[in-house]
Amino acid sequence: MKLNINNVFSKELPADSVLENERRQVYNACFSYASPKQTAKPTLLHVSPSMLKNLGLSSIDAKSKYFLNIFSGNQVLESTKPYAMCYGGHQFGNWAGQLGDGRAINLFEIKQNNNQWQVQLKGAGVTPYSRTADGLAVLRSSVREYLCSEAMFYLGVPTTRALSLSLSGDKVLRDVMYDGNPAYEKGAVVCRAAESFLRFGSYQIFASRQDNYTLKTLVDYTIKHHFTGLGTPSKDTYIQFFKTVSERTLNLIIHWQRVGFVHGVMNTDNMSILGLTIDYGPYGWLEGFDYGWTPNTTDRQHKRYRFGNQINIGLWNLLQLANAIYPLINEAEPLEAILNEYKTNFEIKSLAMMRSKLGLEMADKNDEKFILDLEDILHQTETDMTIFFRQISNFEKKKPSEGLKLIHDAFYAPSEVVGDIKKRWENWFNAYAERLQCETCLDKARKEKMNLVNPKYVLRNYMSQLAIDKADNGDYGLLDELFKMLQNPYSEQPEYNNWFAKRPDWARDKVGCSMLSCSS
Ligand code: AMP
Ligand code: MG
Repeated sequence: MKLNINNVFSKELPADSVLENERRQVYNACFSYASPKQTAKPTLLHVSPSMLKNLGLSSIDAKSKYFLNIFSGNQVLESTKPYAMCYGGHQFGNWAGQLGDGRAINLFEIKQNNNQWQVQLKGAGVTPYSRTADGLAVLRSSVREYLCSEAMFYLGVPTTRALSLSLSGDKVLRDVMYDGNPAYEKGAVVCRAAESFLRFGSYQIFASRQDNYTLKTLVDYTIKHHFTGLGTPSKDTYIQFFKTVSERTLNLIIHWQRVGFVHGVMNTDNMSILGLTIDYGPYGWLEGFDYGWTPNTTDRQHKRYRFGNQINIGLWNLLQLANAIYPLINEAEPLEAILNEYKTNFEIKSLAMMRSKLGLEMADKNDEKFILDLEDILHQTETDMTIFFRQISNFEKKKPSEGLKLIHDAFYAPSEVVGDIKKRWENWFNAYAERLQCETCLDKARKEKMNLVNPKYVLRNYMSQLAIDKADNGDYGLLDELFKMLQNPYSEQPEYNNWFAKRPDWARDKVGCSMLSCSS
């Protein structure tokens, strides 16, 4: 096994001078050295073939004991020194102080085919940032992160990736619903990788401590390695840096809205500076199209991170980042202008995204109302987002009366689609047929384009739960099946047609399917 190690983060940024792995506040440093925990009996459960390739590894490498040991944390690669990153963050709108990698340990960085990868283990034991927790992860949350991060990549959504999923062989105690009923679960380790795991909170921590020196060091480092086109550090470069982060963040969230993904915990420590989906916790996929939905039970009361609020939260988080880097710029106006631009662009880009989901290539002044009308009816009766958008690609503009039949399978209670609601749908399909008259695209070509933005297969919450239940019993077949299917989410794949279906009734209110906690 040969890896092209290229450590830049730990080489160029200030390290914590304390070497003891004990919980504490860490000052003037971007990371602390910390070694992964030895586990009782590591077992490799799954490997992502494309990530193997990206990191310069082969499937033969993946079968070796050495691979298992390195990527489950049981052995440290020669001449590398694992570390945990220091960051802070706003959690649910409140400044939470130092957070940091409490259960993530970076192994090393790899440069392969000109791509930089920071490789880290999640669930490999305590670090100085573990606060009161154990630094471990359970199989349940690890399966969810492993499957979803790879699925997101194939959906074309910017994301951190996953190389492997292993059982640690240790038991981990968790109180899933925080109701005083803790139970032991199987411990697991995910090896994940990204160009960088830096988050908004990585910058906020230094600003909160008035440590402008380390703040500048980190921003300069970030621009040098990850925003290379921006040039040498200057006030203008910092403004451009913020503008790029703002654009990437908006782009990311528009993708989430397109595929129906709800992150669930958009705290500033979970916002990647590169605009990647990061930290898969109590996330969820929309089933019924519902702007008010959040999978995170911790957020049930205020629903701060609900589907319809993700774009606003992106803006709120960017404002916190602007505040953090302000000391390097000392001028509010250009940062405010960028935040205002985000607001304008989010209207424009949301509309463009919804147009693409409906196969509309031209812009019509009434589109906004036409789309609002659709969203309104989608909310009136529980309508499956994925099935609805996939099915309407079959719409023929000369047959508006067949519209309702096409989407019949998307309704959770088809018997409720009568009377006024039925009428509204019929009117909407008539309007759609009329709207399509302005388009030049033929039905068949429109269908092909729509099927590239409306996935047929997404990782519905109950599907992960089924894979988790089986994996917990030692059967990894479903995990593998879902992994394979989700590599081609936009293709028909008739062999997987049984997964192109509404959430079954038993999963509606089941823990892990519609309700998730942060306990992982
Ligand atoms: P999250 O909301 O999962 O992104 O986590 C928020 C903070 O809690 C981060 O600093 C995590 O590293 C930390 N954390 C979460 N779970 C654990 C755990 N089991 N052990 C140690 N730290 C944890
Ligand atoms: Mg996090």
